[in-house]
Amino acid sequence: MISKPRGTRDFLPDEKEERVRTYGALRETAKLFGYREVETPTFELAELFIARSGPEVVDQMYTFEDRGGRLLALRPELTASVARMYSAEMRSIPKPLKLFYFGNCYRYERPQKGRYREFAQFGAEVIGNDSPAANADLIGMAFRNIAAVGLDEYVFRIGDLRVLRAILGDDATPEVMRLIDKKDPGLKAVLPDRADAILDSRIDEVRSIVGDDVMAEYDELTGILDAMDVNYEFDVGIARGLDYYNGIVFEADAPALGAEKQVCGGGSYDLGGVVGIEGLKATGFAMGIDRLILAREKDDAVGPIANVYIAALDDAAIPVALSVGQRLRTAGIPTDIGLGSARPNKAIKAALDRGCSSVILIGEDELAANTVTVKDLATKEQTTVPVDSIVDNLS
Ligand code: ATP
Ligand code: MG
Repeated sequence: MISKPRGTRDFLPDEKEERVRTYGALRETAKLFGYREVETPTFELAELFIARSGPEVVDQMYTFEDRGGRLLALRPELTASVARMYSAEMRSIPKPLKLFYFGNCYRYERPQKGRYREFAQFGAEVIGNDSPAANADLIGMAFRNIAAVGLDEYVFRIGDLRVLRAILGDDATPEVMRLIDKKDPGLKAVLPDRADAILDSRIDEVRSIVGDDVMAEYDELTGILDAMDVNYEFDVGIARGLDYYNGIVFEADAPALGAEKQVCGGGSYDLGGVVGIEGLKATGFAMGIDRLILAREKDDAVGPIANVYIAALDDAAIPVALSVGQRLRTAGIPTDIGLGSARPNKAIKAALDRGCSSVILIGEDELAANTVTVKDLATKEQTTVPVDSIVDNLS
């Protein structure tokens, strides 16, 4: 038997149903905010990510050469793809443009709970505006999205890379940014004077170092979020692994997840840094759907597989079972059919197992009379119904 690749998962029907429900809640919420859904390819030219996605993501990238000698990559994230799509095909559309997407992403990670090599992201971008209003609208949506999937405990942390850069000055080396991103106490050895203010995010200390001017956008954004009843914390130490962010940055954690607790990350960026359109501002976020599902209370409610189950009690009745099934489905009634002949008690058990409200039994007598027997599984009432009236009977 061949096993699945490390870091990948199979989703059995109950799990898949839960995932589909989660996607549905995220999609509905995004539409509630006036965002429109887009889709981009699973693989892209590797250079799209190599130039823009930051060293950590590039190190983890799955790349391969195709038969034409092009270096391709399975996407490690979707923001760069959406920016590419925008610059190629959507420039003439009036802005701001509000887009959302779902997609599986691929990173060569060390697999563990909440960290996979193939994982699902949901994300959104506002293109053409990174004002406090745009950020507040987007963060407000991310906030609603997390609540909509049924996660009760989560913390939004918001920072501003301009504030962080103002604190760091010339010390903003990639190594320092990495230590900050990982909240690594090793920062104290490198920046003894500022490490505590950064690691503990002491807003008053930060404000006294950088001044009110540098904090102005953060203040404006959080003023709006307060009016929107969105809860957040100040976190000056959000450095973001992706290199294209340049203004407001934010992350959300679900403490229930332990080590891999970050469920959302985002911020403002300039499309110049992604696809060469200088001066076009955007702001976006991506959520890890797998982590959202892990973090919330398990939602294992499985809906009925069908409303009606049809069983042939005799091999000769199988064609009639299928044709009755066809009529019901055409009428929009979810119907499952036993594919061989069965005894009535087995058929009833199969119907109950599938969450059906009725079972249709077709045996020799029914065949001869061109009828079916309908048993209502709630009332246990059994009626004989002409085949031609079956849809009316069950609608
Ligand atoms: P981390 O620090 O956990 O590696 P990241 O900064 O690499 O996260 P982003 O690139 O911001 O993550 O991706 C957005 C979201 O996608 C993350 O907040 C997380 O929920 C999810 N995510 C990232 N990598 C994985 C993975 N390997 N498996 C599952 N979910 C992931
Ligand atoms: Mg990562």
